[in-house]
Amino acid sequence: MSIIEKDQQYVAGTYKRFPVEIVSGKGSVVKDPEGKEYIDMGSGIGVTSFGIADEQWQQAVTEQIGKVQHMSNLYYTEPCAKLAEMLCEKTGMKKVFFSNSGAEANECAIKVARKYAADKWAEKHPDEKDSAPYTIVTLKNSFHGRTLTTLAATGQDHFHELFQPLTPGFMHVEANNIKELTDLAQKVKIAGVMIECVQGEGGVLPLDKDYIQAVRDFTQENDIVMIVDEVQTGNGRTGEFYAYMNFGIVPDVVSTAKGLAGGLPLGATLMSEKVQNVLGFGDHGSTFGGNPVSCAAACSIVSRIDRKLLDEVKEKSRYIFNAFEGAPGVESVAGLGLMIGIKTVKPAAEVVAECMKNGVLCLTAKDKVRLLPALNIPMEVLEKAVAVIKDACR
Ligand SMILES: *Cc1c(COP(=O)(O)O)cnc(C)c1O
Repeated sequence: MSIIEKDQQYVAGTYKRFPVEIVSGKGSVVKDPEGKEYIDMGSGIGVTSFGIADEQWQQAVTEQIGKVQHMSNLYYTEPCAKLAEMLCEKTGMKKVFFSNSGAEANECAIKVARKYAADKWAEKHPDEKDSAPYTIVTLKNSFHGRTLTTLAATGQDHFHELFQPLTPGFMHVEANNIKELTDLAQKVKIAGVMIECVQGEGGVLPLDKDYIQAVRDFTQENDIVMIVDEVQTGNGRTGEFYAYMNFGIVPDVVSTAKGLAGGLPLGATLMSEKVQNVLGFGDHGSTFGGNPVSCAAACSIVSRIDRKLLDEVKEKSRYIFNAFEGAPGVESVAGLGLMIGIKTVKPAAEVVAECMKNGVLCLTAKDKVRLLPALNIPMEVLEKAVAVIKDACR
């Protein structure tokens, strides 16, 4: 049996995989078993921030594996503490909770918002504790994860249908329509608002700056916890360390994962001064969360996301936008930094298949071709990939 046949027989059929097996790679180039090379324009869905088998990353990981690979959260380990410090220094946040994935990072963020609202309510209304606000408002067309709670948060009906009942207490409003949110607040007690600054799975759609600022003003005026889901947009992807930094706001809670540890599982929920002490002993936990190997990997990634790298991300972004805007077979280009969605005249899946034949791996998001290359993709490799993709769009 080939690997592809074995996988199809034994692995749960939840993924419609491309008919390619990847055995190795270096940087932004990966290889199949026959040695055919592909330029990787998806980086494992925005995960391998510095590409495949990056040397500095590898060294950080192997060094930590040789020291201690796991100790549980009952003991202190250096990478966990160091990474939390680095994330707080980069953002001004005060505390970090570590988990293993984006969905888990959002679960924690939601718990923080609900507990903040409940604690505050209990102070003011000690006799009516049961009627504390719990509703979390998210946006239509959003994506926040696959657990039953983060599915409830996800504002796309087709994700909901098969798994009812989902966690209650989630409502969805139209993006870029602040009135819908403020009107809802007249009828429902809101504990938190969660947004993606650029809707990734929803089609690589940046929200309006005015809207993001209006959400921040509204949540501040009403002491509602504002969560920014930076699972896909975070860790340098948009040309700033976190995407919210492009929009002139500071949220109360930031959740992130994907590119944080450069290819190992790690989620992080960052808490601002206001909510830093909401979670106390026993309020939340994770066996693997803050694993020393994942955290050492993340330290090596985060320490390299400096102004110079972020400016290179912006420069490569401009290059991609210029290459595709107005190109034959391209209807529009949207996104931020190295998170780009190209609406093509041909169906996106057809363009992606053509690219794969010609040695370039791309993603889709809704009806778009989505590009999420490694942050350090060399310019000459990017140029080659863009030429292939442009050809496939025609
Ligand atoms: C990928 C993603 C998630 C889910 O992350 P997992 O690690 O797959 O749980 C959540 N939110 C956003 C915005 C994402 O892009």
